[in-house]
Amino acid sequence: MADDNKVIVALDMMDPVVARDIAKKRTGEVFAFKIGWPLIMASNADIIVDLSRYAKVICDLKLADIPDTNSWITQKVKENGAWGVISHSFVGKDSLEAVVKAAEGVKVFAVVAMSHPGSAHFINKKTKDLIRVALECGVYGVVAPGNNMAMLRKVRKMTDGLKIISPGIGTQGGNPAEALANGADYIIVGRSICNADDPRTELKRINAAIAQKK
Ligand code: C5P
Repeated sequence: MADDNKVIVALDMMDPVVARDIAKKRTGEVFAFKIGWPLIMASNADIIVDLSRYAKVICDLKLADIPDTNSWITQKVKENGAWGVISHSFVGKDSLEAVVKAAEGVKVFAVVAMSHPGSAHFINKKTKDLIRVALECGVYGVVAPGNNMAMLRKVRKMTDGLKIISPGIGTQGGNPAEALANGADYIIVGRSICNADDPRTELKRINAAIAQKK
């Protein structure tokens, strides 16, 4: 059952043929696929429709604009059948609220902390405030780093009732089972699956490691 799976595969690539091929072959082994600007710019929004035939699709657009613009983009995400959309929370309540309002059933995830080294400069210093905005806007979930256990536990504690999806696994150093044990509901894995010689084997290895820890 897809909903029992814990892995969201980030299809971070520029080739829609490869993305469709991975999605088609890995249906049933993932919770969802996450796609972002590279793939959408390299194809078009139809890629959301295509991939949604195989699993839930989360559009990681990290929306960070004024309310009207955020709202228009979210409407397009919805029209193309996405299951979820990722927005920044740092743009403030009105901008995030516009996403939630336009989403009408599409799940909204707000970024409240990030996983790359530069996140220490600004965004991860404001996590508490970003969570407050996310809670006030009524998002479905938040994005928090799966390679920073102290941060992940802090976010878990402050976001009771919200889903946490966590990137930073594999290439960025995070461990799948550890992230799930420290508060992530689902882990996001990109390069270590998509750039593997055999993505199928790598996904199976991650799913097996998670199952063993259950
Ligand atoms: O290749 P890797 O597994 O490191 O990919 C992580 C994915 O998660 C990328 O698509 C990246 O954009 C995304 N992401 C992240 N940190 C966040 C939010 C999203 O790494 N805070």
